[in-house]
Amino acid sequence: MLRIILIGPPGSGKGTQSQFISGKYNIPQISTGNILRSEIYSKTPTGKKIKKLIDTGKLINDNIIINLIKKILNKKKYKNNFLLDGFPRTMEQAICMKNYKIFVNYVLEFKLCEKLIFERLSGRRIHIPSGRIYNINYNPSKIVNKDDITNEKLSIRQDDTEKIIKNRLNEYYKLTKPLLSFYKDESIKGNIKYFQLNCEKNPKDISKEIEKILK
Ligand code: AMP
Repeated sequence: MLRIILIGPPGSGKGTQSQFISGKYNIPQISTGNILRSEIYSKTPTGKKIKKLIDTGKLINDNIIINLIKKILNKKKYKNNFLLDGFPRTMEQAICMKNYKIFVNYVLEFKLCEKLIFERLSGRRIHIPSGRIYNINYNPSKIVNKDDITNEKLSIRQDDTEKIIKNRLNEYYKLTKPLLSFYKDESIKGNIKYFQLNCEKNPKDISKEIEKILK
């Protein structure tokens, strides 16, 4: 059984490594950010409700996200293995998960300094329908501004501007960082395995490190 949570600031490479882990170990990936962005892209009622919060870099309401995750994790596909990228993001979400007995066995903490966070996010491009991520400097698409698989156009995320990145970092420090001590404690109790990744390295080396951890 492989049940993994990735935690780290925006731009630390969680999405890129999710793609790697999910492909390599055939684990279904749940990226709450991607799910929420497709709701906005498809202009669903939830999408309309959350657009402003996402565009300004604020976390969306715990109830909305918890209900969404519960519905997803109930599906057969996620019975044994799953990879959570972007959830839980608040103590409330983590405690709710524990109360619902949704157990995980690995927590990977992504560490990156602010200077590199800003640098990486400014080069990020995404294919919204699939969530595929590129970076014009580190991981460019084969054709400029086109998705490698569908050839559809790539987008710059609305929330990848300097001002909004600052808001997202503040939300991370205030609401998400406390999860790190929570999961370190869980690891001391022997309930999970906790690992820190130095994300200043290039993405391929980080993937190799993850392979060693999950071996
Ligand atoms: P991400 O793609 O992980 O950077 O997420 C993009 C945005 O989606 C965040 O800035 C939040 O507004 C929202 N979001 C994603 N996951 C969560 C979550 N677990 N709780 C609250 N908001 C979330």
